[in-house]
Amino acid sequence: MDNIIATFVTAFGLAIGSFLNVCVYRIPKGMSISHPRSHCPQCHHYLSFWENIPVISFLILKGQCRECGGKISFQYPLVELMTGVLFWAAFTVMGLNLYLLLSVLFISLLILISIVDIKIMLIPNSAIYFGVILGLILMALEGVSHLQGGAMMLFLFLGIRIMGQALFHQEAMGMGDLKLAGIIGLFLGWKLGMVAAFLSFFLAAIFILPLLGLGKITVKQQVPFGPFLTSAAIITLFWGQAILDQYWSLFNR
Ligand SMILES: [Zn+2]
Repeated sequence: MDNIIATFVTAFGLAIGSFLNVCVYRIPKGMSISHPRSHCPQCHHYLSFWENIPVISFLILKGQCRECGGKISFQYPLVELMTGVLFWAAFTVMGLNLYLLLSVLFISLLILISIVDIKIMLIPNSAIYFGVILGLILMALEGVSHLQGGAMMLFLFLGIRIMGQALFHQEAMGMGDLKLAGIIGLFLGWKLGMVAAFLSFFLAAIFILPLLGLGKITVKQQVPFGPFLTSAAIITLFWGQAILDQYWSLFNR
């Protein structure tokens, strides 16, 4: 039975991933996410059902539009696959319950934010509002620790922003990152929020320091911080409690 549900949840994730691709393309352009139907951005040929199946259509079409032969970006199957796998993982960790539903919605939102941030270095406010709603639902269910989490993350990242400006005279943390940190804290609560914050700095360090060392990027260069925050939040959603337990056990031997 679990296998059937897992398959269903994964298929749902693949379909949501396909929808996220549409959002990633349209939201920054200020377009509607429901109209018009999915079409090739180059020749505007409307996609039939068979050309719109997550991952599979990309493979069958060999990454090209059937009409004009224009290349379809690897982003499409990649996002679909990632969303499907994360939905499956969430079901495996959490089981079938309301928390799973809220979590997969939150994961979808984080994927959307990551890609938009990588592409245009901006975190859309509409995505932040959606995150606030999810966080408030969890707060209604589980209590005030979620509000404390949101406030803690906002202050922490505001502190980093102010310090960055004072020390380096440049924007160390954008306003979008601040809001993103806020909704992550609101969703996770303050304890897991701390884990996510620490993990995001850790991920940023192991990613950015080698690039700096190799001279691939400079200190002055703007690197979007959003993807580090979102990856950290997803890891924390799955393993945050285990990380916390491990951490406490270091002091309670
Ligand atoms: Zn086309």
